[in-house]
Amino acid sequence: MSILKIKNIKKSFGEDLEVLQDISLAVEEGEVVSILGPSGSGKSTLLHILGGVDRPTKGKVYFDGVDVYQQKEDQLAIFRRRQVGLIYQFYNLIPILNVLENMTLPVLMDGREVNQEFLTELVATLGLEGKEKKLPNELSGGQQQRTSIGRALMTSPLVVLADEPTGNLDSKSGKVVAEEFRKINEELGKTLLMVTHDPQMASRCKRVIFLKDGYVMNDVRKEGTEEEF
Ligand code: ADP
Ligand code: MG
Repeated sequence: MSILKIKNIKKSFGEDLEVLQDISLAVEEGEVVSILGPSGSGKSTLLHILGGVDRPTKGKVYFDGVDVYQQKEDQLAIFRRRQVGLIYQFYNLIPILNVLENMTLPVLMDGREVNQEFLTELVATLGLEGKEKKLPNELSGGQQQRTSIGRALMTSPLVVLADEPTGNLDSKSGKVVAEEFRKINEELGKTLLMVTHDPQMASRCKRVIFLKDGYVMNDVRKEGTEEEF
């Protein structure tokens, strides 16, 4: 079964800005998908609609069989917190909280207990050992982004959505972060959708979707890419 399915999504802002015209997609569990398209083509908007953050003007979003926007506001908020891991270009870490505190905040806000074993494992997977007590301003950009990846994963979301996750990094840190995304998919088995301008990231995805003028212009599944996710 598709883990994520959208049908005839349309999104307008106000009367005359029609950003998404008619988008339908199905994403299978464990897939890694990159979303490309010119600036302003609605990539971030689409990601937000997929993640339960922004209501479509028309159309349906099904997440693991659940009709996302049929849910009441409070259910939708819980859905967002538990099922979706969002990662942005700018890390949005809380400056006065250290690495561990930033990573565990969404779990605590959800009223759940932190799984210490998983936290330790995640810190190691993300190469953040020794940085646990550091504040964001004591970290490099790559370390900050890895912390924000950790924060997105701590709630064990079904799907990870990333919006230009290497967009603010130099190519060396970008490579490290790209490697983390490979692990998220291969080792943690997460379904992953990411908007990216980074050819290095896009070339490693088995499926590439190209958005233009509010439509999916191209939806390509590649076979046998050498350095793939
Ligand atoms: P992309 O991520 O592909 O660059 P976006 O999805 O951010 O594109 O934006 C697509 C279009 O929608 C842009 O013209 C942008 O200005 C507009 N837009 C995005 N969010 C809003 C909003 N909340 N209100 C009004 N216009 C918006
Ligand atoms: Mg964008």
